Amino acid sequence: MKVLKFGGTSVGSAQRMKEVANLICNGERNLVVLSAMAGTTNTLVEISDYFYKKNPNGANEIINKLETKYKREIDELFTTEEYKQKTLQAVKAIFDHIRSFSKDLFTLFEEKIVLAQGELISTVMMNNYLNEIGVRSVLLPALEYMRTDKNAEPDLQFTKEHLTKMLEPYSGVNLFITQGYICRNAYGEVDNLQRGGSDYTASLIGAAINADEIQIWTDIDGMHNNDPRYVENTTPVRQLHFEEAAELAYFGAKILHPTCIQPAKLGNIPVRLLNTMEPSAPGTLISNDTEADKIKAVAAKDGITAIKIKSSRMLLAHGFMRKVFEIFETYQTPVDMVTTSEVGVSVTIDNTKKLQEILDELKKLGTVSVDEDMVIICVVGDLEWENIGFESKAVSALKDVPVRMISYGGSNYNISLLVRKEDKQKALQALSRNLFDN
Ligand code: ADP
Ligand code: ASP
Ligand code: MG
Repeated sequence: MKVLKFGGTSVGSAQRMKEVANLICNGERNLVVLSAMAGTTNTLVEISDYFYKKNPNGANEIINKLETKYKREIDELFTTEEYKQKTLQAVKAIFDHIRSFSKDLFTLFEEKIVLAQGELISTVMMNNYLNEIGVRSVLLPALEYMRTDKNAEPDLQFTKEHLTKMLEPYSGVNLFITQGYICRNAYGEVDNLQRGGSDYTASLIGAAINADEIQIWTDIDGMHNNDPRYVENTTPVRQLHFEEAAELAYFGAKILHPTCIQPAKLGNIPVRLLNTMEPSAPGTLISNDTEADKIKAVAAKDGITAIKIKSSRMLLAHGFMRKVFEIFETYQTPVDMVTTSEVGVSVTIDNTKKLQEILDELKKLGTVSVDEDMVIICVVGDLEWENIGFESKAVSALKDVPVRMISYGGSNYNISLLVRKEDKQKALQALSRNLFDN
């Protein structure tokens, strides 16, 4: 069985849904993961914001507008009155449920329920549509098998057991539809796998059922060699190693959710990135294979804060690094980049919730300075240290850009460079010119 995930744009209209239906009925056995229609989850966030602010009229206005949009899409999607009415009723029940939250206390708990509704709508629409056109498909409720544990990490064992059991009665069925993104937490409450988390759902399912392949269908023909939102003439990368894809996803390549590679890699299940708008394009294959001697792609991660700790006593002192990192650990703040010299260490973080507390502690160890609004630029490829010339090519591309930190040699796959936010686009473009233009 293959797992096929379609993102928000891919199911963004009735017409798109019909195209997806066409793609998934390909004679193979497929488990299909759907996102909410494009824009829906953002709108649900906005609705929740009105509920938090105790403004039911504000919420209602947006709810009504969203419901009207869905009525139009349903009208266009279905041809028979039977399926149209059936779907309208199901969707109306969902919108009534959302409206009901205007009455009581609104907390994080209720917000999670509201945010879950987008995927519940898109999947009921798709499943009903497939049934209308005579395709046998089964809707698998994600809230019954996708679960996180007490550390908010996916409980893969639970998913494995429950999903296998849910599939058992349907050995003759070739098509299953399910919701991305949504899950329950360890206490049984509705939760989610973070924004963009439908990719994660697909890869967790892939690992749970030991799928032959995980396909992430989106609005672009695979992982490009640079961020197409900032650089012109980027081109798709045909093949990536799991580690390369993980680095790119973590460092800002939006096409893949950062957590999505891990389960696929553990199960050694190939991941293919494909384009719904151009289904015959080869896309990108992510697997355990490496293409030697090649820089593959560049990505950028925004919202980075750099912290430098200088200490005259670091000279020959053991234990200094441990003390520094213990502070970040105490405040549960992950460190991304690290560079060191004899007199100091620089690190970057992207979560600044505990910045003040961290700085207060660090100041006991040395002189501390902070640079905010920085960007990590990540160059990914076969960067084993014995391959000569690649790191110098990346660094020389940035000859006109002030670089705050450079990190190389931490893995065989990446060089990270820290620059100012205002230099991001210039840096990405210069790297493309130096690394990929013939
Ligand atoms: P979906 O809704 O299908 O999950 P996303 O919007 O999350 O789609 O991801 C696809 C988008 O990722 C593309 O439209 C593109 O703008 C953006 N993107 C950023 N970096 C890259 C990259 N290196 N390669 C391809 N797409 C990228
Ligand atoms: N619908 C969710 C979001 O917009 C999950 C996803 O699309 O992956 O974040
Ligand atoms: Mg996405």
